[in-house]
Amino acid sequence: MKRNPIFIEEILPTLKNGSLVVDLGSGTGSFNYNKYPNLEIVSIDVEGTKSKRSNFVRASAENIPLRTDAAYFVVANWVLEHVVNVETCADEISRICCSNASWYVAIPNSSTLEDRLCRITDAISSIVSKSRRKTKVAKGHVQSFTFQRMLIIAYQRGFRLIAFCDWGAGYTFLRKFDKLQRIMIKLIKLLGKTTRKDFFEKSNYLFNFQKIGGVTGYGNFPLICRRCGGGFSFKASIWTCPRCGTLNGR
Ligand SMILES: [Zn+2]
Repeated sequence: MKRNPIFIEEILPTLKNGSLVVDLGSGTGSFNYNKYPNLEIVSIDVEGTKSKRSNFVRASAENIPLRTDAAYFVVANWVLEHVVNVETCADEISRICCSNASWYVAIPNSSTLEDRLCRITDAISSIVSKSRRKTKVAKGHVQSFTFQRMLIIAYQRGFRLIAFCDWGAGYTFLRKFDKLQRIMIKLIKLLGKTTRKDFFEKSNYLFNFQKIGGVTGYGNFPLICRRCGGGFSFKASIWTCPRCGTLNGR
């Protein structure tokens, strides 16, 4: 069966000429901008300067300096886990996206060994930078994601899932230390063999969302009637079931 587009390079060719593409938290660029001269690409990050790229805008992902409904494609490639106010950021993404716009998200699965090791490495490097009195302290993962949490964030803002995939672990946060990285990968493989667990598969998630409109696709019904099993969303500690009249209490 044919797969829906999931990768940035699969989504970009589906866009019409002149479409605005926003590379949010771009770093040095989430894809090769030069390959898409037909698209209007804006690169946004809290760090960096305009001197290297003409399309660069220095801004926070929580306050995007673009007009409402302007974007046809927003790329958030390994970004959301670093954003302090991720709900505000998602509000902003939803605001700048026009109807039917695509939103690409790559995030780590916070329950995995890779994400935990990454957080430990972040913490160590933060202590080292502080002790060396470097002005810039590396900001690590400040958000923890599950598949469900990401879906709720997107669905609450009118997005629907078009495609998703599980993504393995590369332990790439150690890439600056080639030898250490290779030793770690060997150790993790060994640990996997002895514990019969796979510490490489399903470490991250990639999503392709599409903006359907201004309605939520998510519901939360925490109250369940002990007799009829009906589910309700109102807040109460003691309540009478609107469906069968049974008194429920906690
Ligand atoms: Zn009931």
